[in-house]
Amino acid sequence: MVNVASLVWRKADASPRSPAVRSGSVELTFGQLREASGRVATAAHRAGVGPLDRVVLVVPTVPEFPIVYYGLHTLGATVVTLNTMATPAEIGHVLQDARPSLVIAWEGISESAEVAAATAGVPFWRIGPGAHFEVPPRLEAWEHQPDDTAIILYTSGTTGRPKGAELTAANLVANAVEFAKVSGIGSRDRVGTALPLFHVYGQAVIMNTTLVAGGSLTLCERFQPRAMLELVRDGRLTALGAVPTMWIAMLREAGAFRPADFERFRLGTSGGATIPVEVLRAYEERLGCTLLEGYGLSETTGVAAFNDIHKPRKAGTVGVAMPGAELQIRKDGTVLGPDDVGEVYIRGTTVMKGYWNRPEATRSELVDGWLRTGDLGCIDAEGYLTIVGRTKELIIRGGYNVYPREVEEVLYRHPDIVEAAVLGVPDDYYGEEVGAAIVLRPGAAPDPEGLKTWAKSQLSAYKVPHLIAFVDELPKGSTGKILKRSIDPGLLRESAGR
Ligand code: AMP
Repeated sequence: MVNVASLVWRKADASPRSPAVRSGSVELTFGQLREASGRVATAAHRAGVGPLDRVVLVVPTVPEFPIVYYGLHTLGATVVTLNTMATPAEIGHVLQDARPSLVIAWEGISESAEVAAATAGVPFWRIGPGAHFEVPPRLEAWEHQPDDTAIILYTSGTTGRPKGAELTAANLVANAVEFAKVSGIGSRDRVGTALPLFHVYGQAVIMNTTLVAGGSLTLCERFQPRAMLELVRDGRLTALGAVPTMWIAMLREAGAFRPADFERFRLGTSGGATIPVEVLRAYEERLGCTLLEGYGLSETTGVAAFNDIHKPRKAGTVGVAMPGAELQIRKDGTVLGPDDVGEVYIRGTTVMKGYWNRPEATRSELVDGWLRTGDLGCIDAEGYLTIVGRTKELIIRGGYNVYPREVEEVLYRHPDIVEAAVLGVPDDYYGEEVGAAIVLRPGAAPDPEGLKTWAKSQLSAYKVPHLIAFVDELPKGSTGKILKRSIDPGLLRESAGR
C-alpha cells in the first residue's frame, strides 16, 4: 500500500528537477525535497523512531514542514501536527495523550514545545531553515497498511476537550487523489498558501494534493494580503487556498489590481468556515476570478463536499459530495429528504478511523461508518449541500477553531470568576469573535484587560475572549444548564464599544 510520501516520491522519480516547494527566495525541486526528507527519515530512524511511532511536529508554513512531514511518512511513523501558537499546557495535554517518541519544533517558536517536552520527558529536536541533517538519505518509503494511522489531528469533534482524529494512509491518499480531480489541480499548477500546515486544510487538502499531483507549492509563513495578490499578479500562482477571513482581507486590497492581473489564475479555494456570497461575487465581478467553496472536518481528512470545477457552481452552497463520499441529513434518527434542515452525516474513503485511545467517543461519533458532524445543513435536489449552522459548541475565528469549553475551564480557574459562558459573536471580518459573559464574585472589580492578559498566559492568543461582558447572572434552563443562545451577542459587542 502506498502512502502520500511514496506518491510524492513517484513524482520525484519522474521529474526530479521540477519545482516542488517555494518560499521567498528558497526553491526546492522534487529531487531535493526527496533527498532532504530522506535525511530526516535516516536521522529519525537513528533516534529510534520506527513505524507507527508518534512524532509531534510544531512547525509553521515553511518548506521544512513538508521536508520533515514526508520524511516521517517515509519511515512509516505517525505524524501529530500541532498549532504553532499552542502554549506549553496545550502541548502538554497532547504529549500526555499521544505519548510520542519525539517532538520536532521550529526554532523561534519552539519555546512552548521545548518546555512541554522537557516536562513530559520526551526527546526534543529544534529545527531551523534547511533542516539539515548530516546523514545519508533513506529513500525507500515504508509500506503502510491502508488502515495504518498516518497522522493524528487534535480536534474537539462535537464535544469535550481536544482528542486525536486518526487519519489513515488510505484516507490521506484518497483525499489527495480525489481533491485533485474535483479542483483540477495538476502538475502545471503553482499553488500558493499561507494556511497553517498543522491543520487539515493546509496540510492534506492543499499541500498533499499539490505535491502528489506533481504541482508546485508556494508557502508563505505570514499571511500578507497585498503580497499574496502580487504573487498572483506576477504569474507565480495559478491557484490559492485560503480561509474566508483571508479572502476578505485580500479583497480589501483588490483596488490596486485588475482582471488582467488574474488571467493566469485558475482557482481559489475557500473552506473552514462560511464565506459570504458577496465576497465570492466581488472576486468574480472585480477581478474575474473564481473561488470555489468546500466543506469538511479534520475527521474527514478535509474536504467532504466541494463545488466541483466540472459542475455548475452554486454560490452559497459548499458543493456536492466528494467522489468516494456520501452525505446524509438526519433529524431524530430519520434521514431527511431534499431541502430539509438537519444534522450532516458523512461516510466515505476519507472518514477517519476513530479518535486515538477514545473508543467511547469513536462509538458515539462514528456509527456504521457514518460520521456525525455537529453541523446543520440541507441538501438540494441536485445534491448541493448548504451549511446553515452548528449543533456543536464550536467558534471559528478567522479559520481557527476555539472550543468554548476549553476557554471556560481556564476562566473558571480565575479567583474572581463565579460563572462564565464563552460564545461566538458574529463578526464581519473574523466570521466570529470569541465572547465571554462573566459573573464575578461579589466585591470583585471588573477588569476586562486584566482578565485577557491572564487568559493569554494559559491559552493560545486566538482563543482569548476579546469581547467580555460582566453580568449579574447567566440565563439558565430548568436543569441549571446555561442557555448560551439566550445571551444577547449585542451585550458583548457593546462591552467592546463596537
Ligand atoms: P476542522 O476540524 O478544524 O476542519 O473544523 C471543521 C468544522 O469547520 C466543520 O465541522 C464546520 O463546522 C466548519 N466548516 C468547515 N468548512 C466550512 C464551510 N465551508 N462552511 C461552514 N462551516 C465550515
